[in-house]
Amino acid sequence: MRASLPKREPEILARWAEMDLFGRLREEAAGREKFILHDGPPYANGHLHFGHALNKILKDVINRSQQMLGRDANYVPGWDCHGLPIEWKIEEKYRAEGRDKNEVPIVEFRRECREFAEHWIDVQRAEFKRLGVIGNWDDPYTTMSYPAEAAIVRELGKFVQNGGLYKGYKPVMWSVVEQTALAEAEIEYHDHTSTFIDTKFPVAVASDPALAGAAIVIWTTTPWTIPGNRGVMYGRDIDYAVIEVLSVAEDSAARPGERLVVAAELAESFAANVGVITYRAGATLKGAALDGTVCHHPLRGLGFTHDVPLLHGDHITTDQGTGFVHNAPGHGAEDYEAALAFGLEVPQTVGPDGRYYDHVPAFAGVHVFKADGPVVDALRESGNLLRSGRLTHSYPHSWRSKAPLIYRNTPQWFIGMEINGLRDKALAAIDDTRWVPDSGRNRIRAMIADRPDWCVSRQRAWGVPITVFVHKETGEILRDPAVTERIAAAVEAEGADVWFEADPARFLGEDYAVGDYEQVMDILDVWFDSGSTHAFVLEERSDLQSPASLYLEGTDQHRGWFHSSLLESCGTRGRAPYEAVLTHGFLLDESGHKMSKSSGNAASPQDVTESLGADILRQWVVSADYTMDLRIGPELLNRQVDLYRRLRNTLRYLIGSLDGFDESERVAAAEMPELERWVLHRLWALDRMVRRCSAEFDFHALFSALHNFCTVELSAFYFDIRKDSLYCDRADSPRRRAARTVLDELYSCLTAWLAPILCFTAEEAWLQRNPGNDSSVHLRLFPEVPEIWRDDTLAEKWDRIRRLRRVVTGALERERAEKRIGSSLEAHPTVHVAPDYAAALAGVDLAEIAITSGATLSTDPAPADAFALDEVLGVAVRPGRAEGGKCGRCWMVLADVGADPAHPELCGRCADAVAALPAEAAAG
Ligand SMILES: [Zn+2]
Repeated sequence: MRASLPKREPEILARWAEMDLFGRLREEAAGREKFILHDGPPYANGHLHFGHALNKILKDVINRSQQMLGRDANYVPGWDCHGLPIEWKIEEKYRAEGRDKNEVPIVEFRRECREFAEHWIDVQRAEFKRLGVIGNWDDPYTTMSYPAEAAIVRELGKFVQNGGLYKGYKPVMWSVVEQTALAEAEIEYHDHTSTFIDTKFPVAVASDPALAGAAIVIWTTTPWTIPGNRGVMYGRDIDYAVIEVLSVAEDSAARPGERLVVAAELAESFAANVGVITYRAGATLKGAALDGTVCHHPLRGLGFTHDVPLLHGDHITTDQGTGFVHNAPGHGAEDYEAALAFGLEVPQTVGPDGRYYDHVPAFAGVHVFKADGPVVDALRESGNLLRSGRLTHSYPHSWRSKAPLIYRNTPQWFIGMEINGLRDKALAAIDDTRWVPDSGRNRIRAMIADRPDWCVSRQRAWGVPITVFVHKETGEILRDPAVTERIAAAVEAEGADVWFEADPARFLGEDYAVGDYEQVMDILDVWFDSGSTHAFVLEERSDLQSPASLYLEGTDQHRGWFHSSLLESCGTRGRAPYEAVLTHGFLLDESGHKMSKSSGNAASPQDVTESLGADILRQWVVSADYTMDLRIGPELLNRQVDLYRRLRNTLRYLIGSLDGFDESERVAAAEMPELERWVLHRLWALDRMVRRCSAEFDFHALFSALHNFCTVELSAFYFDIRKDSLYCDRADSPRRRAARTVLDELYSCLTAWLAPILCFTAEEAWLQRNPGNDSSVHLRLFPEVPEIWRDDTLAEKWDRIRRLRRVVTGALERERAEKRIGSSLEAHPTVHVAPDYAAALAGVDLAEIAITSGATLSTDPAPADAFALDEVLGVAVRPGRAEGGKCGRCWMVLADVGADPAHPELCGRCADAVAALPAEAAAG
């Protein structure tokens, strides 16, 4: 146990590979109850960061401990391979080479994406293995393998057949830079400076005479959506005021005499904002009275001749603006819902590249990022603009390109939450699942309860295609299981590229004419891929099973993988693909800042394994409460090194003290001294804790208990006391044999209990005493601890003794500090206790416990100057010096030193021990 971890760990890994430890574990566990932790696939696009390390180490600790609890913990790691980040990398490369992506055949582009993912799978696999993570690395799953792509096609086919998949037109969060719809998980919010406007919608049809000739005023921060306007929303219970402008500031766009309608409580601030100096307040109307009013579009003169009805909306407030909100159904989720409810047209206004379509009057071809200026100018020229300005607010952006996003009305494919009762099934499945911590249940429940339909289409290239045909005339999806199966079989044999390459007649067969059908060329949301892993991993592999025992990822996956897996499985199987879901927090740096790859404050796990060793990282994972956010940094890792060293020293001490241990030395528990029986009781209690914590994944509590046991109860107490016996007693003394028996049990338990956490160190310690090509601590189970080791009465007694010892130790420390004694063996303290306390200490050798040459227990009242500790009541210690000579072997100060003339420098015990040694050892 000498060499450093960075050097030893790769040697141990090589040994595991050579002995095929993973295969051996499967053999050993054949027939046992399975524990299947289904791996959430990381994305194959870069080196591992600490988030990966935390996630995979935690999984490994769980798998290894479940295996040692007696289950078959078969772990198949996987990778998520399709999707935008990889496409983006290849596109970046093309740009650097001056190539135009649109001129590269899609199959060639997809091939480059595949090679990119393959490269990073190899890199990440090596990095995961280096962390000690054991699993089926030779045969992992990937979402881009042909069988996986085929399984995904079949899963989508199930939604096609059961009617769960539909084509809709819907505004979706759209990136005009990446030219694709984005999933919620791909959106981040940043400050953005927008143009805002107050603009008039002249009343054309008045529902109340007071509105005739007036104009409704709206406020918006997206002037570019005005060409898409189809309505104006009001609040039913809001009071609206019709105000007549009397006088205006010089630079105001308002005109004296015009009548404007705004929320009554906002009238004054509104007037000030638009430069109206004085106005006359006219009629006040409840919002409900506006029902039936129709306005002109403010750009009617430019060709926007449609009616703009006033509609009520429950979401309208008077928090800001004018109390009216303009509705552009293609550019907002709430606008869209309202448009559906009121039967408004949902216009196609903006193309995928962010430019207005050619049919849009006045602005055809203008990019929406540059449209605010032209729209504001046109509104000003129309006489309907009251004010414009700039404001900074939180706005959605693409996580990848960081470009602002827009809502855009697009044809998309959806899985309907209300079709076949998907939402209700998912909510019921959440209730049937164990969530660790329990707060995860409400988190995902709220998301499922409120989420819109699942948009599963992407207008990209690198993914599994939406393998669907649509009838050109009827718009109906072709629902024919035979067609789906022909597609799936082709994908299984040739990969999903076949969808883009092959003649569609190959899929349609003889029953359908190619000319009648449109082949969909969108690809699937990657969350559908990873949401289907349960189908092509858990169900397809004969050595796994579904549902999984456990899914384990960061808390963000309530929105991601847990969520998509739940919907996919509930939509096709009516249940969750997991029995339990465990989440861990995110990483923070030492000062508590969020760590991320892009912010540059992250060193890598590879740096730590090279400098300190993977066991340090593994220990770091379990040393904190992973359900909270975890901090990492150089200081914290150094602290882990200190903690680690104490555990390593405990193991090293055990190995050293057990040198030459022979089974014939073993002593039955009943014949051991109380001190040894107390240690066995502690092992019994810890065994219960290890099993409970392992089952509940509470490794933080487990690690704290083990560390505390090693440092406080063993090193500072038990080992300290028994050092004398181990070095100085005769080899055949019952006390020494009992101690060695207990050390052997400690070694057996600690190497096993630490193995899931410190997988390298425990193995190294195990091999020291159990060499052999087939030997590994990881092939063991947690040792069976006999129930007879339990002794609660003894435990209580020895708790009391340990408290008493603290007082004695304190007294001796003071003596040493004041130079009245050198070592504790020069002391002979008198310990004053109450009579009932003394009775409880019956049979205890106080000097042995206190590591002194003698000790006297007294029930006399303690003198006033006796040493005492506030926290230990009823115990006081009077120090004193031991009388006699100092033994040259055990250093005790005893009366019988020199009693044996053959050994004038030794005490009686040591003279006897030396005499019992074999001749050559004695000479040595
Ligand atoms: Zn001695």
